Amino acid sequence: MSDQEKYDQIFESNRKWIEKNKVDNPELFELLAAEQHPDFLYIGCSDSRVHPNQVMGLKPGEVFIHRNIANMVNSIDLSALSVINYGVEYLKVRYIIICGHYGCGGIQAAMQNLDYGILNPWLRSIRDVYRLHQKELNAIEDMEARYRRFVEINTYEQCRNVLKMAEVQKSYYKNGYPKVAGWVFDIEDARLHDLHFDFEGELAKIKEIYDITGKVE
Ligand SMILES: [Zn+2]
Repeated sequence: MSDQEKYDQIFESNRKWIEKNKVDNPELFELLAAEQHPDFLYIGCSDSRVHPNQVMGLKPGEVFIHRNIANMVNSIDLSALSVINYGVEYLKVRYIIICGHYGCGGIQAAMQNLDYGILNPWLRSIRDVYRLHQKELNAIEDMEARYRRFVEINTYEQCRNVLKMAEVQKSYYKNGYPKVAGWVFDIEDARLHDLHFDFEGELAKIKEIYDITGKVE
């Protein structure tokens, strides 16, 4: 199939999908036309194999989604921060989920001593996570095991980064939500693993340095 044919097929598939759903699943169109009230904000990797709605078994309107390379929440990434802000302040999501995945190319690239050009600053923020956990990671001799562990650690660290945001702290103290969770998706068997991010414990731990709920006089 040529590139043009692959491209054209998308519109053909879309047309068939509409026809099929009109018969099998007519309520889908009501869902799409309705206002969104998702309970979940999902922040995952851009990897084409990890599809949030399918993985979570959720319908359109049930999960607000942000994706980037290696599911990062960087403090100067206006895109990720805007999504979180909107999710917390306006959609009032109950959970913010960071979802990493084994076999993550971004994590793998960050573990290599190579010049990735424009990707370097992005990878640096992942390497910074490695540095924070260098001792534990270096102690794992098997490189595949170390890679898998780094995926988990990075996911956990991004959960911590979400907790550092004022709107998340303020909303949680006031409303009891959102809570933050960390998951890893295994692309080998399509299973989701809950890292059991210690939300309350981590929030208490980082409070001394990152509590920013006070008012500047
Ligand atoms: Zn990835």
